[in-house]
Amino acid sequence: MGEFDLIARYFTRPARRSPLGVGDDCALLQPRAGMQLAVSTDLLIEGRHFLSTVDPARLGHKALAVNLSDLAACGAEPLAFTLSLALPRVDEPWLAAFSAGLLALADAHACELVGGDTTRGPLAINITVFGEVPAGQALLRSGARAGDDLWISGTLGDARLALDAFRGLVSLPQDVFDPARLRLETPQPRVALGLALRGIATSAIDISDGLLGDLRHVLQQSGVGATVDSAPACTLLAAARGAWAIERERIEELVFAGGDDYELAFTAPPDRQEAVQAASARSGTPVTRIGVIESQPGLRVIGADGRTLARRFAGFDHFGP
Ligand code: ADP
Ligand code: MG
Repeated sequence: MGEFDLIARYFTRPARRSPLGVGDDCALLQPRAGMQLAVSTDLLIEGRHFLSTVDPARLGHKALAVNLSDLAACGAEPLAFTLSLALPRVDEPWLAAFSAGLLALADAHACELVGGDTTRGPLAINITVFGEVPAGQALLRSGARAGDDLWISGTLGDARLALDAFRGLVSLPQDVFDPARLRLETPQPRVALGLALRGIATSAIDISDGLLGDLRHVLQQSGVGATVDSAPACTLLAAARGAWAIERERIEELVFAGGDDYELAFTAPPDRQEAVQAASARSGTPVTRIGVIESQPGLRVIGADGRTLARRFAGFDHFGP
């Protein structure tokens, strides 16, 4: 099977929302009047961003999910995406599963595959996603203000717990491992929440590299500080009090710095708490208030038992020590 047959079979769908999709030199996108295009891209390399043993359907899902999560963090509505693939060989069962997982999530968000590039090489996946947001209404990292509440969606740490289990660092009972593994392999981007928070949140970011590391970007770009005054509601913390033992320090690391969560961290003025709860209900996404934005720079974290945690948490940095 040649390059063009492969593209035709696995990555060509009729364009519905876009004037022109796969097959020409360019795709054409048509944002609605008054909308800005939100653009984000992510590169996933085998061995660094995913395990070589991962189910290809879940890999297809995750490759798009991490990009949709960036749109969610901007309050943008998915429109279209491109897919660039380096493949070591043409493996049809792999391609069929990968494209099925990818396109199922794409369909769930009405986000069209409109183009890409395909080449031979070590397995790597690059997706660029395009979304629409009303001009001037994108949620940015720079909008947090002293006095704002700090919120997160969902729970944190589960994905990283599954990774620990895959690496043999922790042994989990099946009923904890299974849901944690789903969080790692098939994250659900919080697109509906991002849209519902337009006009309410003052800033937002998606938690891909760990809560505290990502929060630091918001604080720096907004010129503020924060105190995180409660451990984020977390299924792990509850489970940890159960039968299986895992050190509390490790749980705090998973929750505060684990990464791969794809939840949203966002800020909103305290007089918008009801609006935040309404956005949460409207989008079917649980949210928890975890702290407050302050004018004093820096990030202060109070652990579950009330003690201030040492600043041993840094977000995952690909070029860091
Ligand atoms: P060009 O040589 O002009 O870059 P290509 O021959 O690489 O075009 O690709 C042919 C068409 O197939 C283009 O429309 C391109 O966007 C699309 N395409 C290539 N690879 C993919 C892919 N993995 N997924 C979706 N579309 C793809
Ligand atoms: Mg090309």
